[in-house]
Order: sequence, then C-alpha cells, then structure tokens
Amino acid sequence: MTETMQRRPTMTDRQRERRARALWEKKGLEPLVPFPGSRVGWPSRHTACGRQVAPRFDNLRYRPTSTGCEYCAGRARISTAEALATLAEADLEPLARYPGSQLNWSCRCLRCGSEDAEPRLSVLRTTGRRGCRGCRESGRG
Ligand SMILES: [Zn+2]
Ligand SMILES: [Zn+2]
Repeated sequence: MTETMQRRPTMTDRQRERRARALWEKKGLEPLVPFPGSRVGWPSRHTACGRQVAPRFDNLRYRPTSTGCEYCAGRARISTAEALATLAEADLEPLARYPGSQLNWSCRCLRCGSEDAEPRLSVLRTTGRRGCRGCRESGRG
C-alpha cells in the first residue's frame, strides 16, 4: 500500500495542507478537489455565494481580510443584471442606479414599502438577508 506512494509527502506538505484546510474552512470555502499545493489555485466553492473560485493558499494566507472569493470581494464586478436579481430575491426594489457591490444602494422595501433601505449588495449576497432593517427588526424578515 505505502510502496505505491512514490510522492512521499513531507511533513511540511502535510502541514501546509492542514493549514490550508483550516484557512479554507475559516473563509467559508469548500474544496472541490484534493489540495493541489500552495502555489496553484485550489478549485473550491465559496459557500456564502455558491460560486466556484480557485484561490491560491500562498496568496490567501497573507490576506486575512480577503474572503478568497473574487466575486464577493467585488474584484470581479457583479453585473447590473445579477445585482437586480439579488435585490429582487431580497424583496427590494432599486431607487437608484446600481452603485457597485460595496456601496449602500438606495432601495424600497417591498415588504413594508419603506424607502429607507440601503443595503450593500455584498452583504445581501453573503447573508441572504431580506427586506429592510425595519422588517428584520420587527421579526417579519
Ligand atoms: Zn463568494
Ligand atoms: Zn421593510
């Protein structure tokens, strides 16, 4: 059994993998394939948004604030169509042009009619929140 293991993983390989898995778990990333090493992209699913991404461990471990998901990070821009779809799912209607995923977006809450909703798309996408703050606080959301 062990004789077929020609690659004989060193201690550091295994440590790296363990660290990578711990980091991935912390970031909410779900590996789709076995750990390929720290220098190449590791195909994974970002559980918060369901997208497939492939961050590199060597990159991600030096960026503690990064989610590892370029879509949620807003680096890869979310298209207006996608943004509108997310908003509709959250029972919100836009009152202004889509400002980008990291900025507050002025919206009307379709649950209570309030025009005070100012969600950030990145938050909607990662939390699955619905309605405005008033609705959530009154327990209807
Ligand atoms: Zn994501
Ligand atoms: Zn509301």
